[in-house]
Amino acid sequence: MAYDYEKSIRPGKLPHIWCPGCGHGIVMKGLIRAMDTCNLDRKNTAVVSGIGCASRLPGYLDACTLHTAHGRAAAFATGVKMAKPEMNVLCVGGDGDGTAIGGNHFIHACRRNIDMTYVIMNNYIYGMTGGQFSPCTPTGHKASTTPYGNPDPIFDISKLAIGSGATFVARTTAFHATQIDKLIVEGIKHKGMAVIEVLDDCPTTYGRRNKFRSVVDMMKRLKDIAVPVQAAAKMTAEQLEGKTLTGVLYKEDKPEYCEMYQKVIERAQGAAS
Ligand code: SF4
Ligand code: MG
Repeated sequence: MAYDYEKSIRPGKLPHIWCPGCGHGIVMKGLIRAMDTCNLDRKNTAVVSGIGCASRLPGYLDACTLHTAHGRAAAFATGVKMAKPEMNVLCVGGDGDGTAIGGNHFIHACRRNIDMTYVIMNNYIYGMTGGQFSPCTPTGHKASTTPYGNPDPIFDISKLAIGSGATFVARTTAFHATQIDKLIVEGIKHKGMAVIEVLDDCPTTYGRRNKFRSVVDMMKRLKDIAVPVQAAAKMTAEQLEGKTLTGVLYKEDKPEYCEMYQKVIERAQGAAS
């Protein structure tokens, strides 16, 4: 039986605005399956985003959604979780939104280990605004602002999250559609900051400039570069050249921020009484 996605979509919101071949719809379906698998009560679930093509996602969902300012998704999501710790808090967005203008908020949400699940769609570009290079555009690749090749080194989002203190970090791709929901489910169940990086495709602003002939070519690339962490353990450095590890990259149990903050409130109340 076909999966009933429509029941999770806010009435009247479809069709979505994404270009044909964009991977964001694949991620949205994965997120819906994950929310269903975890039986998340939509009235008790906040889905927060910033600005950009990926950040349009919450607008389609039947949940408590917040479409906020550019780069500020993690900050707004932190506010929601602090004010209502009983809510499930999910964050979605792109690489430009999350790691450039929003980089500061992203690393500090990771550092605090606040209990949210951040799904970051890394399509290597600023899609919505016409294809400017982002911190995740590969070195040498073309963007509207780097027509002769990007000179910058890239951020590895998953490594950035681990280095900043996130306690659950996983990576997959838009090609590996069935892995998306599995990893988001693990992220939702994890108590603390969970980051799921989904390598994605933007045929409109990244693919065309970088000589991908079709969406299928872009998907084949995602398929080819992905190596599950378990398989990587048996491969040589040479074999791993140009590959990207997928699966659960890091997991750790550590005190969660809202719980620690509650103890501070209790100490303050004790001191005042
Ligand atoms: Fe997707 Fe790129 Fe189109 Fe934006 S511009 S909707 S990221 S394909
Ligand atoms: Mg992007």
